[in-house]
Amino acid sequence: MQKKEPNHTKKSPIGSQQRDISGHDSARLQALLSSIGEGVITTNENGAINRINQTALDLLGIRHSEAIHKHFLEVVVPVYDNGNIINVFDRPIVKALQTGKPVSQRVNYLLKHNAILPVQTTISPIVMHGKPIGAVEVFRDLTAEIESDKLKSDFISIASHQLRTPLSAINMYTRMLQDGLAGDLTPEQKPYIETVLTSVKRMNTLISTLLNITRIEAGGIVIKKQRVYADELSREILAEFTPAAQAKSITLVADLPTHIAPIRTDSVLVKEICANLLSNAIKYTPKGGTVTFSLASTDKEVTWCIIDTGYGIPEIDQKNIFLKFFRASNIVSKDVSGTGLGLYLIKNIAESIGGDVWFESTENVGSTFCFSMPLTSA
Ligand code: ADP
Repeated sequence: MQKKEPNHTKKSPIGSQQRDISGHDSARLQALLSSIGEGVITTNENGAINRINQTALDLLGIRHSEAIHKHFLEVVVPVYDNGNIINVFDRPIVKALQTGKPVSQRVNYLLKHNAILPVQTTISPIVMHGKPIGAVEVFRDLTAEIESDKLKSDFISIASHQLRTPLSAINMYTRMLQDGLAGDLTPEQKPYIETVLTSVKRMNTLISTLLNITRIEAGGIVIKKQRVYADELSREILAEFTPAAQAKSITLVADLPTHIAPIRTDSVLVKEICANLLSNAIKYTPKGGTVTFSLASTDKEVTWCIIDTGYGIPEIDQKNIFLKFFRASNIVSKDVSGTGLGLYLIKNIAESIGGDVWFESTENVGSTFCFSMPLTSA
């Protein structure tokens, strides 16, 4: 239904034509805005605030008179995590108005006395007859969520550390049993001991992954840059995974150049990424398949690609593959153990060292996962 044009349009105090609504509608709208538990601010096409609800005022710690008819950019000041004010052109409202599309973002707002309020905001342009007539922002306070995420991360971190100690005792004593330090093992006992050791290894890997995730989410990953020879590192990784490939009769093909220029990066983190991708390729390729580990370089970057002839990833799952705990639907029925944490972790690690991870995959044909790092002179 077309809304009736009001006959008492008035000039807005900030100089733009502002369409007003009847007093009754206005009161209803105000009551509606007041009852919303999230902050709501609307602006006219020039960015001047024409409505702001009580939640927004409370969250921003300002009075109505300090916001109304003022420019949005003056009232709402977003800052980066380090406290620096976000450049005008990178602000969500400017992006929303420039692109004509809603922008959702996690930002921090700078409040009075330099207090910081973390918020999740969505700013959408208001379009009428094809023309932008303003913007509406809806935002909510993330303080409690951040606090609870931190508690969760602290819990995982403490629990993981506490699990490590008994696990290393299990590992040590099982190895002593395996080495015959408590007498010879019977042929029946030997495979049991091996199963215990394999499980201990898996649990150790899981604990390391969880600890790394907590570190990366807390922004606490330490990057130790050194001169890294990608070809040598790749040979080391391949050697580590040769027994696992042989155990599944998988042909491991190395496609490595003999010499490439060194890169300046963290070798432990690069190794973690490549090892994770290679381990997945072996894990998700059935017996008798082929996994190729290739390394190539240009004058700008080095790129590892791990190509397998495995189960592949269904198209419908591909957009979610880097999400935490996500496992593709074709794998769930295949009884291949996993947590859905590896790719989430390595994507984050890659980004934190300036690299990138991406993939292509066809179900029942295979996958290619690649990781590239910019080549900065060592
Ligand atoms: P995990 O392997 O522990 O489940 P990852 O985060 O490493 O966790 O991988 C997430 C999901 O991505 C896997 O569960 C699997 O469904 C899919 N996946 C990853 N690598 C491959 C691959 N090379 N081939 C097929 N599917 C893969």
